[in-house]
Amino acid sequence: MKNHLKEKLIAVIVLCACIVLGMVYLVLSPKGSATEPVSTPTASSAIETSTPAPTAVPTEVPADTVSDDSITRLIDQEHTVSADYVPASLQQPDVTSNHMQTVRSELVQPLIDMFADAESAGYDLKLVSGYRSYTEQTSLWYTYEERHGRSYAQRIDDHPGASEHQLGLAVDLGNASGRCELNACFAYSDAYTWLKENSYRYGFIERYPDGAEQITGIMYSPWHYRYVGIEEAEKIHASGLTMDEYYLQH
Ligand SMILES: [Zn+2]
Repeated sequence: MKNHLKEKLIAVIVLCACIVLGMVYLVLSPKGSATEPVSTPTASSAIETSTPAPTAVPTEVPADTVSDDSITRLIDQEHTVSADYVPASLQQPDVTSNHMQTVRSELVQPLIDMFADAESAGYDLKLVSGYRSYTEQTSLWYTYEERHGRSYAQRIDDHPGASEHQLGLAVDLGNASGRCELNACFAYSDAYTWLKENSYRYGFIERYPDGAEQITGIMYSPWHYRYVGIEEAEKIHASGLTMDEYYLQH
């Protein structure tokens, strides 16, 4: 009987020991290792780990400043056009105070829109001059030279073959009243302030701004605007650079 009790006691102790050992094992064993499924490659994981397909990076096509018919043609004494160059399409824009001036067809509607919005803002503009042929530019150049001397003439106007007016892409603008026409005092008019702030929205830039004669080669001409298209005008305007700097040094 005594031995029987002793055997029972040993059995209980062994059982308790087994339970304790079992609990210790459960506590110390790596968590989750037994329950986590073994990961197998799936279609989605295969996509994630494969080399990503190259994404198309938009490459900006540089503006054409060389072709004679390009609206961004850069023209000066080093980059002239031939005497017989005439733009393919010249039109007379239907704007008020237009004295039979023509321009390249691309800027007809932008010019009409700009004049209309300027009028709505309270400023009546005048298209003083647009396209000028090589012959007309030659005549004008010699008139200036005779009147002001060669060195001064070079500062106020381009040599024949070097004028944006021959491209049909330049306009000289003024007040409809004719006040300060082609004169530096136009810079003090409200119409000029409006043009300076808004012309780029229609594709025009001030081509010979104040303080830029060393760069442009032409004296400050607040009346002279150059059409380059809205997209380019917005970029040039935002850069704060002259057209020369923007395309030759940018
Ligand atoms: Zn001009």
